[in-house]
Amino acid sequence: MFVCTNCKKSVEEQGNIGTHHRNHCPFCLFSKHLDMKKPGDRESKCKGDMQPIALAYKKDKEIMLVHECKDCKSISTNRISADDSEERILDIFYTSVRNKQKQKLREIKADLEVLDLVDEDEVKKQLFGI
Ligand SMILES: [Zn+2]
Ligand SMILES: [Zn+2]
Repeated sequence: MFVCTNCKKSVEEQGNIGTHHRNHCPFCLFSKHLDMKKPGDRESKCKGDMQPIALAYKKDKEIMLVHECKDCKSISTNRISADDSEERILDIFYTSVRNKQKQKLREIKADLEVLDLVDEDEVKKQLFGI
């Protein structure tokens, strides 16, 4: 268990998803910069707070969270867990649209397919099944 440095809630590391380690808080969706090359390697020395700033598609259209480290500004994508707050994810989506994250992230990470307002229906479908 760990205490989220952003919202201060206690988080079960295993969650209800079984095998893979949780890498972000299910309440506020903040993460910590622990991994360097691949998820779970825990090689990073940064340990900065990673803020969820946008949503992006994986190749199969699965929606991923995009995190930006507040300290070193590195960008990473992470799978959404079954018990992540859907409202919070939707919140991040609308904030990213307002902040024009798609345009901003294109300059840093051109291969990232960041979601924009045109993807609103798909986001709601994947989050709420509607
Ligand atoms: Zn949190
Ligand atoms: Zn960092």
